[in-house]
Amino acid sequence: MKVPFLNLKAQYDSISEEVQRSIAEVLSRCAFSGGPYVEKFEEEFAAFCGSKHAAGVGSGTEALWLALLGLGVQPGDEVITVPNSFIATAEAISLCGARPVFVDVQEDSFTMAPALLPQAITKRTKVIIPVHLYGQTADMDPILSIAERHGIAVLEDACQAHGSEYKGRRAGSLGHAACFSFYPGKNLGAYGEAGGVVTNDEQLAKKIKMLRDHGQSRKYYHDVIGMNGRMDGIQGAVLSVKLKYLDSWNKQRRANALKYQEKLAGVTGVKVPDEMDYAHHVYHVFAVRSRNREKMRSDLQASGIDCGVHYPVPIHLQEAYAARKELAGKFPVAESCAEELLSLPMFPELTGSEVDYICQEVKRHSNVPDSA
Ligand SMILES: *Cc1c(COP(=O)(O)O)cnc(C)c1O
Repeated sequence: MKVPFLNLKAQYDSISEEVQRSIAEVLSRCAFSGGPYVEKFEEEFAAFCGSKHAAGVGSGTEALWLALLGLGVQPGDEVITVPNSFIATAEAISLCGARPVFVDVQEDSFTMAPALLPQAITKRTKVIIPVHLYGQTADMDPILSIAERHGIAVLEDACQAHGSEYKGRRAGSLGHAACFSFYPGKNLGAYGEAGGVVTNDEQLAKKIKMLRDHGQSRKYYHDVIGMNGRMDGIQGAVLSVKLKYLDSWNKQRRANALKYQEKLAGVTGVKVPDEMDYAHHVYHVFAVRSRNREKMRSDLQASGIDCGVHYPVPIHLQEAYAARKELAGKFPVAESCAEELLSLPMFPELTGSEVDYICQEVKRHSNVPDSA
């Protein structure tokens, strides 16, 4: 049996008529850049997150960059985040001329360890970015209270957490602002590149909308230096269609995760991810821990199962951050995640028999004695 890591085509086929109709509408109105379809999606998505405002932008990376600029991050500032994220989280900090400062993550959730946060805070710390990795929010309450004590803003990197919840509150409504990616493979994916910032802060939303549009207050009057960070009209229309299905798609992901968890519980050498007590996990990624990850990966590949690794190199050890290599060994949990986590196929349309087959092959290969 062949099982892909992701199957965007299956999802497209299930909504293709509706999507094509919505795209045709955008084309006939020539609402290509920003405009009514983006505004409609902004309203719907803010409401979905339980938040007041949303700004549609070009990508998740741009969302993070614009949100940090909107929060006033400047050269010389420090922004705290985790080393086991997609590079974009740190990149956005660096693009502002600020310095990423890393805090290690918790062994059980792979998200920011609140206990390690206070020692990373300095007079220059401007923002803290917890990452809701793999679809599960970070432990936000302690992070928010530490931040509040120091007068520091908290920006959620919710790029993998559309519809995820913390103690019944949705990702996107937890911090000062939150950033989402609508990259095609995300739980809510556009048909091209797109991203968004969500916030309850009206002033911040206004500032971000100005920054994404060359800092103009009206056409050709530029109050501040911004950029072109607008969302395409077509993406806004596609996202409005897809948003209606997001809850049911997330439910299917959770059902698949439950099946994996039941079938792989107690298998030697493989640890399935846990859902924290505070969380409603939306399983953007289903990453199991294996002490012999590379062998497991190639064995599963040989059985026709595509897996992924998120991410093979923690940010502080990336070539792009070579200047920070003195940090090697400082974040042992993030470093072990990079060595041991293997992402199994996970998408709403994954079938029961595919999950059965994957679990059967994982069990078969885990019988091989590992190197440890
Ligand atoms: C996908 C992702 C981003 C970047 O989003 P793009 O839309 O690809 O620019 C940022 N942070 C995390 C955690 C992501 O998964």
